Amino acid sequence: MGVSIGIDLGTTNSVVTALMDGQVVPIRNSAGTHTMPSIVSFMSDGQPLVGHAAKNHQITSPESTIYSVKRFMGRRHAEVRTEEKLVPYEVVGKPSELVKLRIGKKLYTPQEISAIILEELKQMAENALGDIVTDSVITVPAYFNDAQRQATKEAAAIAGLNVRRIINEPTAAALAYGFEKCMMKRRVIVVDFGGGTLDLSAMEIDNGRFEVLGVHGNTHLGGDDFDQRIIDIVADDFFRKERIELRDDPMALQRLKDAAQRAKIELSGMEQTEISLPYIAVNGRGAVHLQYTLRRDVFEGVCADLLESIGSCCKELRHNSGVGVGPNMEIILVGGSTRMPAVRRIVSESFATKQLNKSVNPDEVVGVGAGTLAAVLSGQVRNVNLMDVTSQTLGVESAGGGVSVIAPKNTPIPTTVRKVYSTPKDNQTSVPINVLEGDALVAKANRTLGLFRLKNIPKAKRGVPKIEVCFAIDADGILSVTATDMHTQKSQRVVIQGGSGLDEKDHEQLVRQGESRREGLKARRRSMDLRSHAEGVAINMQSWVMHNEEYIGSTRKAEIKDVIQRLRKAIEQNNVTKMRKILLELDAEMGDKLAG
Ligand code: AMP
Repeated sequence: MGVSIGIDLGTTNSVVTALMDGQVVPIRNSAGTHTMPSIVSFMSDGQPLVGHAAKNHQITSPESTIYSVKRFMGRRHAEVRTEEKLVPYEVVGKPSELVKLRIGKKLYTPQEISAIILEELKQMAENALGDIVTDSVITVPAYFNDAQRQATKEAAAIAGLNVRRIINEPTAAALAYGFEKCMMKRRVIVVDFGGGTLDLSAMEIDNGRFEVLGVHGNTHLGGDDFDQRIIDIVADDFFRKERIELRDDPMALQRLKDAAQRAKIELSGMEQTEISLPYIAVNGRGAVHLQYTLRRDVFEGVCADLLESIGSCCKELRHNSGVGVGPNMEIILVGGSTRMPAVRRIVSESFATKQLNKSVNPDEVVGVGAGTLAAVLSGQVRNVNLMDVTSQTLGVESAGGGVSVIAPKNTPIPTTVRKVYSTPKDNQTSVPINVLEGDALVAKANRTLGLFRLKNIPKAKRGVPKIEVCFAIDADGILSVTATDMHTQKSQRVVIQGGSGLDEKDHEQLVRQGESRREGLKARRRSMDLRSHAEGVAINMQSWVMHNEEYIGSTRKAEIKDVIQRLRKAIEQNNVTKMRKILLELDAEMGDKLAG
């Protein structure tokens, strides 16, 4: 059996962790950092670059680059109208359809892009551990719905990873935190504010038991929105002065985006920063440079409504979960955006406390929690009993278009909940079961997860048949629904799948494509290894001939030189078969010579 890893699949950055020498640690990538940008960029031959390489490629090829893909996982087009404005790539699909992302002529599902990121993380772990990775625990925002969780699992399957558990990010953070802090009973609020989402969780940690008391958040709010505010004020100012719209030039916009994010990060430690972008545009008189001074108070001013949204989320969590702030209560800050002083201030004010715990590394703690759970599930770590809750209200449509709640938000999982219904009309032989997710009182205003019909109900007066609807929610928060006619014991069952947009056939095809992409990658790596070996051999042979010229006969020398020349040509043409053949010849040539 292979190794199990933890993955924080973030909107902006991702982290992979594993148990090494008895401790769960983040794994360093080739750029030497623990966090890898969640970016995929396609080269002109269609091959993907991932992480830092993709981020570098993004500067010159923003139109071939996909970032923030997590915002589109398992989402319908109508649900991402705000998000699609924040990305340069095209988001396609009818309003009711799950989105696809267009790069050039090719369309990708968000699952495929996430799978490329997951593959890279898996590879990083395999390189560091020197072992095959088979299993994983992957984190998702607490607010992810069924479709978004399913989509994450599908991405993992495409990447060739088995998912042992999907875990909420704040739960993972508290797991890492509580695990380090020797299991004393305490209440914790985790404020996880990353690049694209805000997740708040109130939880109780008691002797290895992690119970989420309540979750709240905003899937449409993150550090990217703060970057956008800077982009807008700087681009507006530039337009006023130069009459040039930088937002219409993808390359200039990409440079401005990077600069805006840098400026935001600098403002977390300084009162003022300079944004300087030379040669950002040209006009009739030549190159135009951008110079802008941004003060922290101005930045906070233009982000006032975003900060207010954070404050209302915090207050709502306090209200929903019923947790006050007492002496045993701690607030943990997770995610890069919690480093903004204004965010810390608003969190402090909303929970009426100054006790913000910053002792955990906000970038790595979620990944470490995922790795801890991976170690628990593979039996390498004991005494942790994780108890999570649902983040969405689940129910069925009732007669008249209302909603009958079956599992309210914050129901502990895994769980099975049953409710008995009847027919609203006389002699009704079938009933539709519309499975809903959401808090709205009207069915139509909620999200339909699945719609099926229980048939062959024996004719009877309305109210007489007894139909039991059973919701089974597994530890990943994924739902399956059964409706049973209690008189005939006939039942209909649906696992809420395809909510993520992929039917079984699509899914299998993507898994196969993932496998062949990995095979292709392996073959390319092998050919690159062979190529660099061949280059080395050519150089060594050349120098060997040079240093031994006096001992080699001229015919022999000409033969060897010919072989070296042919090898160089094969390298130039990247012809693997020829390279291999010539290397064998060269080996024999060398052997002959040395033996002679
Ligand atoms: P995460 O998704 O947790 O990796 O968070 C990434 C977000 O945190 C991005 O929007 C970053 O720009 C932001 N971020 C990282 N460091 C800082 C900082 N020192 N101040 C403000 N924002 C930051």
